[in-house]
Amino acid sequence: MTYPTQPTASHFIGGQYVEDTSGPPIDVIYPATGEVIARVHSATPAIVAQAVAAARGAQAAWQAMTGTERGRILRRAADILRARNHDLSVLETYDTGKPYQETSVADATSGADALEYFGGMAATLTGEHIQLGEDWVYTRREALGVCVGIGAWNYPTQIACWKGAPALACGNTMVFKPSETTPLCALKVAEILHEAGAPAGVYNVIQGLGDVGAALVSHDDVDKVSLTGSVPTGRKVYAAAAAGVKHVTMELGGKSPLIIFDDADVENAVSGAILGNFYSSGQVCSNGTRVYVHKDIKHAFLTCLSERLGKAVIGDPMDPETSFGPMVSAAQMEIVQGYIAKGKAEGARLVCGGDRIDRAGYYLQPTVFADVTDDMTIAREEIFGPVMAVLDFEDEADVLARANDTEFGLAAGVFTRDLSRAHRMAAGFEAGTCYINTYNDSPVEAPFGGSKQSGVGRENSKAAIEHYSQLKSVYVRMGNLEAPF
Ligand code: NAD
Repeated sequence: MTYPTQPTASHFIGGQYVEDTSGPPIDVIYPATGEVIARVHSATPAIVAQAVAAARGAQAAWQAMTGTERGRILRRAADILRARNHDLSVLETYDTGKPYQETSVADATSGADALEYFGGMAATLTGEHIQLGEDWVYTRREALGVCVGIGAWNYPTQIACWKGAPALACGNTMVFKPSETTPLCALKVAEILHEAGAPAGVYNVIQGLGDVGAALVSHDDVDKVSLTGSVPTGRKVYAAAAAGVKHVTMELGGKSPLIIFDDADVENAVSGAILGNFYSSGQVCSNGTRVYVHKDIKHAFLTCLSERLGKAVIGDPMDPETSFGPMVSAAQMEIVQGYIAKGKAEGARLVCGGDRIDRAGYYLQPTVFADVTDDMTIAREEIFGPVMAVLDFEDEADVLARANDTEFGLAAGVFTRDLSRAHRMAAGFEAGTCYINTYNDSPVEAPFGGSKQSGVGRENSKAAIEHYSQLKSVYVRMGNLEAPF
């Protein structure tokens, strides 16, 4: 291995790398080979305290800068991310195992989009003037203070930026804890923000498992928590944040429906199902893993799908030709294998895949089950791997009710040529993001987040500003003030 994967130190606090080897070690494993490629150390209580103190110490001065000045720094960071896209994409591939073909277009670039977008918006953030006769009120849009970001392992660079960019644009500072499975990329984001001019302490990164995340969430000097993770973790973090009445954003899991009507363009629908089930080896929160296919096109859909899956290039993720890589970890692969076994045991029909691939690393075949019914485990629980469940349907109202019969509400998709039906379905879906004749787009300009148990709040777009700032109302009386006595 020639690429330097060992970071300078485990943490980035107060504008510099900080090491403290007394915290438990975390080995970083390259999922394509199983090799240990780096080692970092979990934050000790002293490191947690140091990071929050650095963020608190930097916050007032950061907020006092003009939006134009803050925005310029974020946009400069976006430019650096883009200029270093190749190296950052290679690192993202080492961290996650996702193919370079994906990381080179979807990770540092998506992080850069967020920094550019919120950097551009920073100067436009204002309160408003409310006239009350001759008196008046004005509102000040103010930062929340110190924000904690906690990330999942599927998009480490993107998550670090999606949380950091709006937080910093609004004048907050951040302590970000990446997933223990993918600790490398967020350090680069911190380094680049600092290089772009972010003052020391504005964006800090510390490592650790759930206990470090929990210590951050319950820290008295933290004002807001933004988590990307599973629903069970979300429940714990939400409850802990509630104890301190802290602001939260929760980006949690899903089991999203993708509905393909009999008038759909089958090739496009298959493209949507592939993007919504096998991109990043299926490790995408918004995936449309319950694929409801109208019975009249089921045969055509499955035939086309099987043929297209045969064209997946499975192999070395660093090879730009590779379009399907390993799972992030042995543990995640075993969880997914457990679901495949359950699918078989509960009577779903295996159409393709189902096995581990005979090579080093954590590779599973792209797997499709047909004849899945709504009560089967693989149709109810989030698998977070390359497993598609195909279910049959005939009636629009019936399939909509089945699609919504879940605790999750992250995303939903529909493929049809019928315009009215497409919008009727979008209105009926209980989900934060809906797709018509496409799947899994997530541009920074559009709000992203979940309904029901899939989340609270929205990331990206103008909507994110509401979750990283608060309004203060200032009442101004122009004349004399009367009192009852
Ligand atoms: P996870 O819930 O296991 O962990 C997420 C993060 O929370 C990790 O950094 C972990 O260390 C931390 N954590 C765990 N326990 C904690 C606690 N008690 N207090 C504070 N922090 C704690 O999730 P994962 O396995 O890393 O990621 C996969 C999950 O993330 C899936 O459910 C997926 O759907 C979800 N996800 C959601 C989105 C979204 O935007 N909605 C995006 C990506 C992933």
